[in-house]
Amino acid sequence: MAVPELNVAIFKPGAEIYIDEDKCVGCGRCVEVCPEDVYTLEKRPEEKDPDKEYKSVAIHPERCILCLSCLEICGKNAIYIYGQQ
Ligand code: SF4
Ligand code: SF4
Repeated sequence: MAVPELNVAIFKPGAEIYIDEDKCVGCGRCVEVCPEDVYTLEKRPEEKDPDKEYKSVAIHPERCILCLSCLEICGKNAIYIYGQQ
């Protein structure tokens, strides 16, 4: 009997993650959805606009498993992720 071929995607954990600060409104959705706690919210020290009091920061990009949930949930398209080769 033939051995079935395994179709397994293999990737290294970790990614380069960029957040467009002009687009980010600090809603925290990416923080909540990420299963690997990659993001945190930081207060913008000099920001006067109450809608932009916080911004998301990727403090642990090395933990990223490329599930892409944050990209799907960010309503501002502020997140850019480049996976490791
Ligand atoms: S989901 Fe998008 S807009 Fe909201 S905090 Fe994260 S990066 Fe910013
Ligand atoms: S792709 Fe998944 S694991 Fe990576 S930062 Fe986004 S939500 Fe977290």
